[in-house]
Amino acid sequence: MMGNKYGTHRVLEPAGVLPQPAWKVNNDMETLYDNEILVDVSMLNIDAASFTQIKDEVGSDEKKIAEKILSIVNERGKMHNPVTGSGGMLIGKVEKIGPALKDHVHVKEGDKIATLVSLSLTPLKIEKIKKVHVDTDQVEVEAKAVIFESGVYAKLPEDMDERLALAVLDVAGAPAQTARLVDPGDTVVIIGASGKSGTLCSYVAKKYAGPTGRVIAVVHSKERAKHLEELGIDDIVEVDATDAVEMERVISELTDGEMAEVTINVVNIPNTEMSSILATCDYGTVYFFSMATSFTKAALGAEGVGKDVNMIIGNGYMTGHAEIALETVRESKKLREVFESLYVN
Ligand code: NAP
Repeated sequence: MMGNKYGTHRVLEPAGVLPQPAWKVNNDMETLYDNEILVDVSMLNIDAASFTQIKDEVGSDEKKIAEKILSIVNERGKMHNPVTGSGGMLIGKVEKIGPALKDHVHVKEGDKIATLVSLSLTPLKIEKIKKVHVDTDQVEVEAKAVIFESGVYAKLPEDMDERLALAVLDVAGAPAQTARLVDPGDTVVIIGASGKSGTLCSYVAKKYAGPTGRVIAVVHSKERAKHLEELGIDDIVEVDATDAVEMERVISELTDGEMAEVTINVVNIPNTEMSSILATCDYGTVYFFSMATSFTKAALGAEGVGKDVNMIIGNGYMTGHAEIALETVRESKKLREVFESLYVN
């Protein structure tokens, strides 16, 4: 029994759409299509914008967060937050590979993998939530998931802790795109720099901007950004990312009015489009990796202030992004230590 390669055969509502925009997908794990992979899931990494929204809604109590996650998955057949629209990713063991895929995939049954497509499209059935790690957005589960023929996933590396790999792979697109966007000598502003993708992007931006470039890390709290100092980031400033006027003032002061050639938005909250746009010089680039970004607010907002900037939607996928992200933490002992202390211990 062959399913559609993008998984439309599992869409229940509304009929005819792809699994990501679907409201509900079929999460029956008993019947596996010939071109699907069944995964025995051990850990979810809930997308940061989604996890933040859930915490805002139900509070930081582990039990209440677990109940909310279960209610979303039971209703939709996937961990697709109806407010943020975002998902996350998972790690688990390949339990079964459909016969039509067996000779065409780079994994075998028993391998440990991380999915690199969003939980917002991945059929998921949770038997039990064992632990919610409130500080890292990671959730230990007993669950099963299905990967479609077009799904992207990576074998978990053997040289690092699973939780470290999960944290890095969750945001793999961000450091990879940063490497593509930043040129030597650039001034780069990273908004939300103390977080997971912010830390990776700050390190990569500094590497590519080089000694003649400058990386300005914008954080919520300097107290929670001490690790950026250890990574040699040029400037660390405290600005509320929702305060666009203050952001423009601070970046203008730091750059003598030149502003940033590249601005990277990696916050986990909404309403930060304008501060990213105002931090950037004309003909510069704003890279919106945050899942809380509104296309309307960015497009109409830039027009409204007469800013000629390129705006890039943070595609979660880029060729080689998983390897690039993993190599980034392998190449810097300091960065790896920072990630281990924040996301593993
Ligand atoms: P994270 O670790 O939670 O980091 C978010 C950062 O935003 C934190 O450092 C936080 O600082 C900061 N922040 C929050 N409110 C702020 C404010 N008002 N002013 C300044 N900074 C503020 O998140 P992440 O895992 O790196 O993810 C970052 C974003 O990327 C999220 O929106 C996530 O949904 C998105 N994402 C996108 C993709 C994609 O495919 N495009 C994939 C994965 C994730 P404090 O902790 O100090 O508050």
